[in-house]
Amino acid sequence: MSEIAHFINGQIVNGNSSRRQDVFNPATGNADKTVILAGENDVDDAVRAAKEAWPEWSKTPVLRRARILDKFKNILWERLNQLAEVISSEHGKTIDDAIGEVTRGLEVVEFATAAPTLMKGEFSENVGSDVDSHMIRQSLGVCVGITPFNFPAMVPMWMFPVAIVTGNCFVLKPSERDPSASILIAEWLKEAGLPDGVFNVIQGDKIAVDRLISHQDVKAISFVGSTPIANYIYTTGTAKGKRVQALGGAKNHMVIMPDADLEMATNALMGAAYGSAGERCMAVSVAVPVTEAVADALVQRLVPKIKELKIGPATDTSSEMGPLVTAQHLEKVAGYIDAGESEGADVVVDGRNFKQDKQGYENGFFIGGTLLDNVKENMSCYREEIFGPVLSVVRKNSYQEALDLIHGHEYANGTAIFTRDGDIARNFMQDVEVGMVGVNVPIPVPMAFHSFGGWKSSIFGDHAMHGMEGVRFYTRIKTTTTRWPTGLRQNPEFKMPTLG
Ligand code: NAD
Repeated sequence: MSEIAHFINGQIVNGNSSRRQDVFNPATGNADKTVILAGENDVDDAVRAAKEAWPEWSKTPVLRRARILDKFKNILWERLNQLAEVISSEHGKTIDDAIGEVTRGLEVVEFATAAPTLMKGEFSENVGSDVDSHMIRQSLGVCVGITPFNFPAMVPMWMFPVAIVTGNCFVLKPSERDPSASILIAEWLKEAGLPDGVFNVIQGDKIAVDRLISHQDVKAISFVGSTPIANYIYTTGTAKGKRVQALGGAKNHMVIMPDADLEMATNALMGAAYGSAGERCMAVSVAVPVTEAVADALVQRLVPKIKELKIGPATDTSSEMGPLVTAQHLEKVAGYIDAGESEGADVVVDGRNFKQDKQGYENGFFIGGTLLDNVKENMSCYREEIFGPVLSVVRKNSYQEALDLIHGHEYANGTAIFTRDGDIARNFMQDVEVGMVGVNVPIPVPMAFHSFGGWKSSIFGDHAMHGMEGVRFYTRIKTTTTRWPTGLRQNPEFKMPTLG
C-alpha cells in the first residue's frame, strides 16, 4: 500500500508522526493508500523551511519568479491527464471534470505570470515642494493554504500561484481525503525551478491545522472548506494577528422565470446539480421555478433526465457522474434525503435506491441523482448544505418571492436566474445579496483575472481569492515620502506637517 507523505524544503519526507489515515478510491470502495497525518513538529519544520526561503525569494526579481510559474504552467498543460487521473482516483469525479478542474486552476497560474504588472506601485512627484511619494507592494512572509477535498488541485491553485509570485513562501495543508495531487504539484514546481522551501506541503488533520493557524511565523491564512471550520479558522487566525480569508459552504439557488427557455434551464440544472455528484461549492442545489405551471413543466422535464444519468467510475469514459468521496459522506447525503422525506418533501426521484452493478465497483460510494419537490424553507434539506446530487425544488409565485427566499438563506455563495427579460435580469444582478451571479449561466465561477468569493456565511474575511483581490491579500503596501536637500527647511516645525 502506498503512503502519501509531506513535501518540505524540496524533499518528500515522512516526518515524525506515527498517525496515518486511509485514502479510499471512492469508485471501488477500497483503501488503496494511506496518508501521513502530521504532528506539530512536522508543521514547525515546514514553516521553518518557508521562513528561511523567504528573504531570498522575496528579493528575487518578480520577472524571474513569474518565469518559474510560466514553466510550471507548461508542465501542467503537458501532464493535465496525469493529474486528472490522480484526482479522479481519490475524489471520484469523472476524468473530464477533473481536467476541467485542473484547467481552471491553471488559469490562475496564467494570471499570476502577469505579476510584474500586477505588483507595480504608484509614484507621485512634487506632492510638496521638492517632495515625492511612492507606494510599493511587498510580500508578507509565510502564507498558509488549507483546502477542501472537492477540488484538490484547483482550490490550492486559487492560492499559491498568486502567493508565491508576489514573493511569499507557502505551506499547503490539503484535504486528507485526496492528498496526492498536492505532491505532484510540489514536484512539478520544483522541476520548474522553484527554490526549495518556497512551496511546502504538510499532510494532516486538525492537529496540523491548529498548529498552522497559531504559528507565530505564519503571516496569512487562506482557507476553503465548510462554514463552521471557516469561521473557526477566521476567528482563531485573526485573534493571533494574522491576515485571514476563509471561504465557507453554500446553498446556491437558480431562479427559473416563466419566460425562460425551459429546455436550456433544465439542461443547465442537470449539469449544475449533478455534475461532480453535487460536490461543488457552486453546485445549484435549489431550483426556484416561478409559478406552479413552470414548476410542473420543469419537474416533468427533469425526472427522465435524472433517471437516465450515467453513474459510474471515472475509468468508464461514458460516466456523467461518479461516486461520493467517502462512505461517511454517502451516509450523510442519504440522511438528508431521509430527513426531507420525513419533513414532508416529495421524493420524486430517489437516489437512495441506486445500485452500482459494474463489476469491481459494487462497493463504491455511489448514490443516484435525487429530486425533492415541494421543499419548504424550514426543512433541513433546504437550510443545510447537503453537498451531494440532491436538487430541491422550492416553488414560488413571483420574482419578489424568489428573491426573498434567496435573501432568507444563511449562505450567499452563488446564484443564477434564467430569463429572457432584461429588466428582471438587471434587477437581479443589482439587488441579489450573493457574491457570484449568473444570468442564464448556472455555475458563474469567475475567471482567474476576476475574483472568487461569496457573501454572508460563505466567506469570512475581506478578500476574495485570485484576481486583484488575491494580489491585495498576499501583499501589503508601503508608502514612502522623500524629500531631497535642495528645498530643506532650516527651522523645526511642530505642527502637523502639510506639504502645500
Ligand atoms: P472541511 O471543512 O471538512 O475541510 C476543509 C479543510 O479543513 C481540510 O483541509 C480539513 O483537513 C480541515 N479541517 C476539517 N475539520 C477541521 C477541524 N475541526 N479543525 C481544523 N481543520 C479542519 O470541508 P470539506 O468537506 O473538505 O469540503 C467541502 C466543503 O468545502 C463544503 O462545505 C463546500 O461548500 C466547501 N467549499 C467551499 C468553496 C468556496 O469557494 N466557498 C469551495 C470549495 C469547497
